[in-house]
Amino acid sequence: MENNDYKLIWDEVLNQIKAGEQGGAVWFDGLKFREATETTVIIEVPSGFYMDQVKKRYLAKFESKIEELTGKKLAVNLIVHEKAAETDPKNPKISGTDEPDFKPGTSTAEKAAVSDKKPKKNPHFQLKSNYLFENYVVGENNAFAHGAAQAVARNPGTAYNPLLIYGGVGLGKTHLMQAIGNYVHEHSDNKVIYISAEDFTNEFIASLREDKSRTKVASFKNKYRHADFLLIDDIHFLQKKDGTQEELFYTFNALFNSNKQMVFTCDRPISELKDFHERLGSRMTHGLSADLLPPKYETRCAILKKKSETLNVSIPDDVINLVSKNISTNVRDLEGALHTLSAYAELLGKPITLEIARERLKDVFASPRQSNLSIEIIQRVVAEHHHLSINDLKSIKKTKSLVYPRQLAMYIIREITEYTTTEIGQAFGGRDHTTVMYSCDKIGERMKADPGVDSTIQSLIRDIKEYNAKS
Ligand code: ADP
Ligand code: MG
Repeated sequence: MENNDYKLIWDEVLNQIKAGEQGGAVWFDGLKFREATETTVIIEVPSGFYMDQVKKRYLAKFESKIEELTGKKLAVNLIVHEKAAETDPKNPKISGTDEPDFKPGTSTAEKAAVSDKKPKKNPHFQLKSNYLFENYVVGENNAFAHGAAQAVARNPGTAYNPLLIYGGVGLGKTHLMQAIGNYVHEHSDNKVIYISAEDFTNEFIASLREDKSRTKVASFKNKYRHADFLLIDDIHFLQKKDGTQEELFYTFNALFNSNKQMVFTCDRPISELKDFHERLGSRMTHGLSADLLPPKYETRCAILKKKSETLNVSIPDDVINLVSKNISTNVRDLEGALHTLSAYAELLGKPITLEIARERLKDVFASPRQSNLSIEIIQRVVAEHHHLSINDLKSIKKTKSLVYPRQLAMYIIREITEYTTTEIGQAFGGRDHTTVMYSCDKIGERMKADPGVDSTIQSLIRDIKEYNAKS
């Protein structure tokens, strides 16, 4: 067969698969047929990140559809568009990433096309100027979210719309979201609106108040429905806020239909929100969801190094290691420790030594949150032991295969840490402290009835400590 025939077949493959997809298979926009041989079809994708997504979602479907149409078993080979694979020296902002100089045919995307010839713009009034991609330290805990955020900043309104970033407090959601905003503001004329869900709610309510002529509501709607980039932070705040959820639903539809990019952050998976409209939740997860986990030891060191350079304080490596070892909760706590040390050093005009760091931070290190193993590590070890994900443990599902590991994890946290039952409940999808108490009682009962349970618990605790020492 000629290349051209394969091209036709490929188009047909996409058409047929698309027809069976809900939501129109947005990932197909970035695929480009390059050539085919007797054994292989070669398809270009705009980035490594894109490639992973397409592989995961569609590769098997492509291959079986080709076989169905041609009767031949051909492998589909995805390669990154050559131009995209090179780092772009003209673009120091995100140099070294695999994101492409790729512009899908939407107007928003074209407007966002990178141009460094323009004079530097005034900073965006809603965004922190230091929340940039280049100040964001990437580790395995956040690499996926970081890649997704860069892809959205460069190719808005396409395959990753909306982008949802979720994760616990202090893990960098706002930083990443604003980095998108700053990048787009700097590199395009797109209108970027950043707002916390709380301010969005307040503004909406204020617009309804004493507004007989409805002009305030109209101008509220108008403002948000004319954004090119709408970034809404902390949407968990919208739980129970029926009216605002409804308004956001309409805003979402208006923006989505005109290919405008949206980004949301949330402190937990959408499925775990309570009193949140199903239809809004399903739209928010319709694009791409990326989670942020607490950074591991090496990443914590890298973050401290980077931050100390930015603050222009010199912190010896042994102090950086000490702080990273003792603070494992989140980046905000790491930053807090660094500020304590740098303020002290500045005040005394002395360099920071290991002794000073130990002395200054002893309360922070000794606080139950730090001296303890983190809840996350315990959840992770218990989940892995049962071949589950952490999200399974946190989820609201009450399947038998989930309930026992969940109760076990709660019990172990209660045994070996000082977290309160309220904090533990919080870490399991916002459950009530009475649920945690009930779970611990249940495990206690099981231990009495079955001595095997105790030895399982002891072996899990050993694993947890080992894991913690390595992380
Ligand atoms: P969240 O919104 O998830 O609560 P933030 O985005 O406010 O967290 O992050 C808390 C602080 O930690 C901010 O000062 C942010 O700059 C910093 N931070 C978080 N993640 C990183 C990272 N990967 N690299 C550098 N700084 C980070
Ligand atoms: Mg935040």
